[in-house]
Amino acid sequence: MMSENWKKKNRRIKGGISVLLMSAILCGCSVSKTMQTSTLFAMDTVMELQIMGDEELLREGENKIRTLEKELSVTDDDSEIAQLNASGKQELSEDVANLMNEALGICDSTGGALDITIYPVLKGWGFTTSEYRVPTDGEITELLENVDYHKVELGGSCIIPKGTEVDLGSVAKGYTARMLYEYFTEKGVTSGLINLGGNVQCIGSKPNGDAWNVAVKSPFKDSASGILGVIKASDEAVVTSGGYERYFEEDGKTYWHIIDPATGKPAENGLISVTIIGKDGLLCDGLSTALFVKGLDGAVEYYHEYGKASDNEDTNIDTNSENSFDMILVTDSEEVYVTKGVADRFSLASEYYNLNVHVIN
Ligand code: ADP
Ligand code: MG
Repeated sequence: MMSENWKKKNRRIKGGISVLLMSAILCGCSVSKTMQTSTLFAMDTVMELQIMGDEELLREGENKIRTLEKELSVTDDDSEIAQLNASGKQELSEDVANLMNEALGICDSTGGALDITIYPVLKGWGFTTSEYRVPTDGEITELLENVDYHKVELGGSCIIPKGTEVDLGSVAKGYTARMLYEYFTEKGVTSGLINLGGNVQCIGSKPNGDAWNVAVKSPFKDSASGILGVIKASDEAVVTSGGYERYFEEDGKTYWHIIDPATGKPAENGLISVTIIGKDGLLCDGLSTALFVKGLDGAVEYYHEYGKASDNEDTNIDTNSENSFDMILVTDSEEVYVTKGVADRFSLASEYYNLNVHVIN
């Protein structure tokens, strides 16, 4: 027998549904104002798009990802980048020229810790084909002769010297995330979450107004949950780079895919994970790679010079510029460093409660 309570609840739910339908009809908005999701494989990673808006927008977002992938891929012979690398001279589409220009700006500001011409060295280590090997020091020295982003001439067309090759892999996903953010918000989307393989871009907040909870991957191999912690974020990008993403082991030593352009070897400057949180997805992506290369001291120094606009306590004025950023760093001695702007909205996963957390002022 149905209880009175159940019947009452059922009536309430039915009533709720009809009120919803009525208001949808009255305000002319379609049922598309629900969360739409899509998963695709692109740029060598699993991507998840989630927006409050029309499904059509998602399809268009997917198309835009595919187009950028075709333009940027360093391995697809038809891409602008592959053609530039093959011939040394290439006219670039507006998208690619803009991205290259901005990437060169990050190469500059990070003193070459990011270097978009690192590709020959990456190939030498086998990271481009998964046929991993440790090159000899002599080989590395030779390969490094081709590496220097200053050699990239970006004018009417792009020109690089013979032997030099460009790879925008360190910023491509960030650029894509920013492009999607711009596209969706222009179309009126006020809530969404774009996850391009750990390269996360929040659009607004959750539909209920709360900040999004973005998981930061654990850099520790024996992690139970796979998650270092969770950061609350709204309208921001959260991008993590770590040695654990792609690596190989030889003779008990781990070699990963983030290369220090100063040595031509996997960057070993004391950090195992760098997460950058900021307004601009492209900048966050570039910096997550570059500050991983720079190491703890270099990253903190860079943050003091460029990142701090948001926490000017003295004036209490919101000086949050497009380029300011926050960061979460994990060292190889298992210490966690967070900047002030995220200290009270980042929480460690329970398995990491014992880690020391230091706040960078
Ligand atoms: P992921 O692509 O795993 O998310 P990153 O954004 O940190 O990680 O980018 C790493 C990629 O960038 C590497 O796979 C390689 O293609 C390229 N790369 C590695 N080291 C450098 C560097 N110092 N400067 C520019 N690009 C780099
Ligand atoms: Mg990056």
